[in-house]
Amino acid sequence: MLILCLHLQIPFPFYIRYLNMKKLYFILIILLTGFNLFAQKLERVEPMFWFTEMHNPKLQLLVHGENIALSTVTLSYPGVKLVKVNKVENPNYLFIDLELSKSAKAGKFLINFSANGKKLFSYTYELKNRNKSPERIQGVTQKDFIYLLMPDRFSNGDKSNDVVQGLTETALNRDSMYYRHGGDIQGVINHLDYLKDLGVTNVWMTPEVENDMANASYHGYAVTDHYKIDPRYGTNELYKKYVETAHAKGMKVIKDIVHNHVGTNHWFYKDLPMKSWLNQWPKFTQTSYRDQTVMDIHASEADRKQMLDGWFVSSMPDLNQRNPFVQNYLTQNHIWWIEYAGIDGLRLDTYGYNDPVYMADWALKVQAEFPRLSVFGETLVTAVPNQAFFTGGNTVNRGFDTHLQGITDATLKDAIYEGINGKNGWVDGINRLYATLAHDFLYKNPNTNCIFLDNHDMSRFYSVVGEDFDKYKMGLSILLTMRGIPEMYYGTEILMKNFSNPDGLIRSDFPGGWDGDKKDKFIAEGRTNKENEAFTFVKTLANYRKNSPALQTGKLMQFVPQDDIYVYFRYNDSAKGTVMVIVNNTDKDKNLNTDRFSERTSGITVAKNVISGENLSFKEIKVPARTTLVLELN
Ligand code: CA
Repeated sequence: MLILCLHLQIPFPFYIRYLNMKKLYFILIILLTGFNLFAQKLERVEPMFWFTEMHNPKLQLLVHGENIALSTVTLSYPGVKLVKVNKVENPNYLFIDLELSKSAKAGKFLINFSANGKKLFSYTYELKNRNKSPERIQGVTQKDFIYLLMPDRFSNGDKSNDVVQGLTETALNRDSMYYRHGGDIQGVINHLDYLKDLGVTNVWMTPEVENDMANASYHGYAVTDHYKIDPRYGTNELYKKYVETAHAKGMKVIKDIVHNHVGTNHWFYKDLPMKSWLNQWPKFTQTSYRDQTVMDIHASEADRKQMLDGWFVSSMPDLNQRNPFVQNYLTQNHIWWIEYAGIDGLRLDTYGYNDPVYMADWALKVQAEFPRLSVFGETLVTAVPNQAFFTGGNTVNRGFDTHLQGITDATLKDAIYEGINGKNGWVDGINRLYATLAHDFLYKNPNTNCIFLDNHDMSRFYSVVGEDFDKYKMGLSILLTMRGIPEMYYGTEILMKNFSNPDGLIRSDFPGGWDGDKKDKFIAEGRTNKENEAFTFVKTLANYRKNSPALQTGKLMQFVPQDDIYVYFRYNDSAKGTVMVIVNNTDKDKNLNTDRFSERTSGITVAKNVISGENLSFKEIKVPARTTLVLELN
């Protein structure tokens, strides 16, 4: 085999990867004794550097390079112990287990690779000082208002990175929803003041790491390099600067990460460390997208396996999270980014498709390093129990604690839609919203759920309500006063619209984000009157929220809808500053007598309309048709 390979000039590792590994290794080692037949190369070490004083003393380095497994590894640095060098199926990999003592100081040391007693090359590894500033990683709470954007589609702050040579996709075409448009991290930095003015406290971008795919990977979920910001968005250093700039402005940053899959152009997919790196199937098998199969007590094992191990799409291979090398690789990568850049929260893509045992272990490891970090998982499901199943605290008798703080609350989103658009009935219309919130007992803490009206995967809210401006304002009023952490999708504040089939339609460029755009909707003069009204509406509520203890930390109390009117309160121990929200989704003006709300309103004499600033007579409140009134009680 070896002779044959040499004769045909085919890389020998290609043959041996999936064959009888032990026997072939043995032959190889015999042949190599005394003379070095194969050139060895070092291509990458990941994580590229690490940090002192981490909670977990263990670190596993992935080393990739041609025939690297044929070399001997040595290193010498005070406080760093070389525990084990793991060889795997593919000789182009080594996994080096290190143990770092608490006393290990920041500094550089050489990791030496040698063969036959001869040094081949070395890698300069660095331990950087851990940033222990207690204010650095702040977490994401109900005090926040998250703005979700797609970096390719928000603003082009650096034209020099629009097309990057060496990447697979070279065309820039703003006329096509499938191509890159040139937006980048600098464009976001340039508009942090715009967002702050709007009342946003927290920016969540769809994934910024490299997606070097042939087409349509501007969304960021087909990762091809876990440690590198996509060069079309900027550099790792620029990303770090973006986080620091946001922090300096009193804002926070959420990073969107993908555990479940990668893109087929990922460098490790092209040269897999081992067959079990991925969930492999005899022929391509797609996930069923049926979250029920992981919670259903009647589910078949085959259905469960297809949901968890099936590939998301054919261009996104599914990582085998039961493989300890994969586990270390992913977990360390996320810890690396948080420590490197100082991220406040993580959004976990396709949460329910991941291996549950690994994800629980991941959460514990990440929280041990960063106790203040916030984490929420994407759960696009259709019922409260399906969401609660994934959340921490084992509130649903699963027999297993996921340690997941929060989820994206799709069920509440559906209930808000029904509450605004639906026809009222015993369980329909506004009663759906009431009933959905009554299920909050299933969560350990519903206030850590990320609540939203839409996102990058669904029709824009303004279109969902038929471009009815009253309904739009109703939805935003609920979003910004309801329990949970509100997220708004970019452009909602300027009435961007469209339906999500195909999804490129809901990912159009923010007007004014590019030099030469006909309209600049980042400024009032570039917006229509109606867009300015929408912008001011969001801004007023979002900025009110920033100073309202009831909305930032308060509890929720809701009352059974009567006469098609739904009322809820956000409140703290002090009645002062209680927020009362009144929803009238009908076409009729209504009068609301407030007597039955005395639990929350006793002693109240003044009710101020938060949007208009007017004081209202409190005993009997006029509620116009298709309106959500937000009142502050004093
Ligand atoms: Ca650019």
